[in-house]
Amino acid sequence: MNISVVIPLYNEEESLPELFDWIKRVMDEHKFTYEVIFVNDGSTDGSWQVIEKLAAQHPEVHGVKFRRNHGKSPALYHGFLRSEGDVVITMDADLQDSPDEIPELYRMITEDGYDLVSGYKQKRYDPLSKTLPTKLFNATARKVSGIKNLHDFNCGLKAYRKEVVKNIEVYGEMHRYIPYLAKNAGFSKIGEKVVQHQARKYGKTKFGLNRFVNGYLDLLSLWFLSSFGKQPMHVFGCIGSLMFTIGFFAAAFVGGHKLWSMATGRNYILVTNSPYFYIALTMMLLGTMLFLAGFLGEMINRNSSERNTYQVEKEI
Ligand code: UDP
Ligand code: MG
Repeated sequence: MNISVVIPLYNEEESLPELFDWIKRVMDEHKFTYEVIFVNDGSTDGSWQVIEKLAAQHPEVHGVKFRRNHGKSPALYHGFLRSEGDVVITMDADLQDSPDEIPELYRMITEDGYDLVSGYKQKRYDPLSKTLPTKLFNATARKVSGIKNLHDFNCGLKAYRKEVVKNIEVYGEMHRYIPYLAKNAGFSKIGEKVVQHQARKYGKTKFGLNRFVNGYLDLLSLWFLSSFGKQPMHVFGCIGSLMFTIGFFAAAFVGGHKLWSMATGRNYILVTNSPYFYIALTMMLLGTMLFLAGFLGEMINRNSSERNTYQVEKEI
């Protein structure tokens, strides 16, 4: 099969028939063999009935239904699990992404050899309250992930080589950083294509402004996991030892200075009256705690079932 289209959706009943007709038109025109996997993320409207109806009429349509709303990432995860096409395309269900982009995305993966191609909504039809923070968000994501050529990490329209979706695990709200997940899994040829974007036709957006707060925290976790996740001791142990050593010598100096002053008969102050003593003490305490955090991290890693899940690409 050429293409699997994965569509996560939450309360998008009005858009679905129109979206499927459009996809079908494009696929038939280019003679692609394909499947469309609708993942119903606990919709409370009639979305599932619409999917059932579509599936009854078209053998290309598959549906997955969650009992309740879990979020876009789990929906994508289940879509990826079930996709069988050589190229997997994800798109939003709200008709903001255009199926007309599919042939070119497919070509970029199969002929230009990209692992992942992300859409780039250069001209957006969203309110300013969303486009402005998005710019900032993408600049941060570029910096942290080191994927310098992407302008739109969170674009719903993306194309993947099959191996990519089978080797990454989208969870929580990590759908915003799939290119980063792919890069961490060793897929380095990541590209971008400018895509058409439209204003939402039916329904309303499912993400509020807290997407930026959560997105930022998720980025921090990902950055940390990918840089030190497998060896927490390397970062915590290093900073911790350094702080402890500085604190220790500073405390020794404060104490030594007092003893020396006493021995030579000069004026001296109590150790506890010196601010430096407290600074030194705090550094020793924090140093110990950081060191312990690193040590605990290592112990947790040792027990983790994923401590040796590095993916093998080929064997002969
Ligand atoms: N979506 C989902 N589960 C959720 C929230 C959203 O499957 O909990 C789907 C939604 O139906 C749409 C896509 O994710 O197909 C993108 O959502 P939306 O259009 O609301 O996001 P925006 O375009 O505002 O970024
Ligand atoms: Mg949308």
